Amino acid sequence: MATTGTLYIVSAPSGAGKTSLVKALMDAMAQVRVSVSHTTRAMRPGEVDGVNYHFTPREEFIKLLEQGDFLEHAEVFGNLYGTSHSWVKQTLAKGYDLILEIDWQGAQQVRRLVPDAKSIFILPPTHKDLRQRLHNRGQDADDVIESRMQQAITEMSHYVEYDYIVINDNFSTALEDLKAIFRSNQLLLSTQQKRHTQLLSDLLG
Ligand code: 5GP
Repeated sequence: MATTGTLYIVSAPSGAGKTSLVKALMDAMAQVRVSVSHTTRAMRPGEVDGVNYHFTPREEFIKLLEQGDFLEHAEVFGNLYGTSHSWVKQTLAKGYDLILEIDWQGAQQVRRLVPDAKSIFILPPTHKDLRQRLHNRGQDADDVIESRMQQAITEMSHYVEYDYIVINDNFSTALEDLKAIFRSNQLLLSTQQKRHTQLLSDLLG
């Protein structure tokens, strides 16, 4: 994949604050975009089609999958999720840093296809906090929360596969941590060479 932007994978168990952190990061850094995934799951209150997800009927999702439209896909909690390949390519080609908010299964697929992708795992500060945050969402029944707690533990067991770990104890600190990861990657020699090819050649000319 010929790109100028950097591809980031951000994973976390549900309730770790991933979506709020990613949104705050985008508001703070103009160069960062987030991919809107396709999903077959039902819309939750407050969600908007095309903003939070492209809510897609299962048959349509399977059709897109068979056409090879997804860079990666996975089944999570019985629903299918996938990332549009063409949108990722276009956004990176425009020079944006692009975040994929995906689970560990999708992360493994993306790492194989894009070895340069940087991956970040967001963890909650304690087990108790995670349970509390799942309760505070108030969108799911108790048995759903219990099953999400178990899924969260499975998701967290994959943290060792990631390049960076951010612990979301204090929101502002976690946001600063994320910004530091993005900024330092933007300043890497290899990134600067891609972004400032002309300048670097002019300076030595
Ligand atoms: P939720 O339905 O609560 O928004 O997300 C459930 C899980 O699906 C989260 O772990 C989230 O990161 C993951 N997810 C969301 N979009 C994608 C995607 O496009 N691909 C993959 N592999 N996982 C996704």
